[in-house]
Amino acid sequence: MSVTVVGSVALDTVDTPSGENIEGLGGAATFFSLAAANYTDVNLVGVIGTDFPKEHIDLLASKGINLEGLEQVEGKTFRWKGHYHDDLNVRDTLETHLNVFEHFEPKLPQVAQDAPYLFCGNAHPAIQMMTLEQSNHKFVALDTMNLWIDIAHDELTDILKKIDCLIINDEEVIQLTQDHNLIRATRKIQEMGPKIICTKKGEHGCLLFHGDQIFSAPAYPMMEVVDPTGAGDSFAGGFMGYIAQQDDTSFNTLKKAVIHGSAVASHLCSQFGPDGLTKINKDDIEARVQEFAELVKF
Ligand code: AMP
Repeated sequence: MSVTVVGSVALDTVDTPSGENIEGLGGAATFFSLAAANYTDVNLVGVIGTDFPKEHIDLLASKGINLEGLEQVEGKTFRWKGHYHDDLNVRDTLETHLNVFEHFEPKLPQVAQDAPYLFCGNAHPAIQMMTLEQSNHKFVALDTMNLWIDIAHDELTDILKKIDCLIINDEEVIQLTQDHNLIRATRKIQEMGPKIICTKKGEHGCLLFHGDQIFSAPAYPMMEVVDPTGAGDSFAGGFMGYIAQQDDTSFNTLKKAVIHGSAVASHLCSQFGPDGLTKINKDDIEARVQEFAELVKF
């Protein structure tokens, strides 16, 4: 089954303890698509400016990603600049230039509307709602961030009522509920709408809540993380890609989906920008999934 993603396509400038990457290919929808394309057909819906390098479009197309919904409009592409501390869990956003993303109104082509699986990438909840209203999905997952919890709290609360799955960071769970106990806080979000929640804890892994059940997955132990930008979106891409491929949302399948998401995200972090994803194949992912299986077996 196919999956549609709606979100940012960006040019990212980052510096990490390993070096820097200037105006590399980035954006939530980009990382999601490159990860999910390992599993199933992907429709990318987003917007770019006239300055967006053709080589990036060619790369996405070469991975079989359907770009019918990637609009190119007059103006500059969304740009984001980030600085990572020695502790790579700590990141400062130095610059955000929304540019053409500021007035983005997603228009889903028919094939994207009809995809059974939908991922609303991090964006203003109003954009996410516009997406939902056009889609004929049977399962939808959503990402958000601290900014929207702060400035668009009511719109976010409205959309939470309409989704199946929320993929969110531990800090955002606490911010949204004002409860510092992660388990209790996630349960409170389930009461707001989504019955399935992936609470990401960075290098400490991820908790999957599926109704009353909980699954805990580690992150892959890495000696060197080069660039974690897009790890969350790649996780979501591996997670949703696997679910769409299996066409099943049972607890058992979702547990495996969490491991696939974690495996794909670990590959991403090993290089700058999307290189860690573009230079691997399905066998590399499967090998890492097996390493995960060994890691948690006792
Ligand atoms: P992550 O590391 O998973 O949080 O995702 C980082 C990606 O999100 C980068 O490629 C950025 O271009 C993109 N990004 C950063 N800020 C925003 C924003 N306000 N809206 C949409 N995408 C963003």
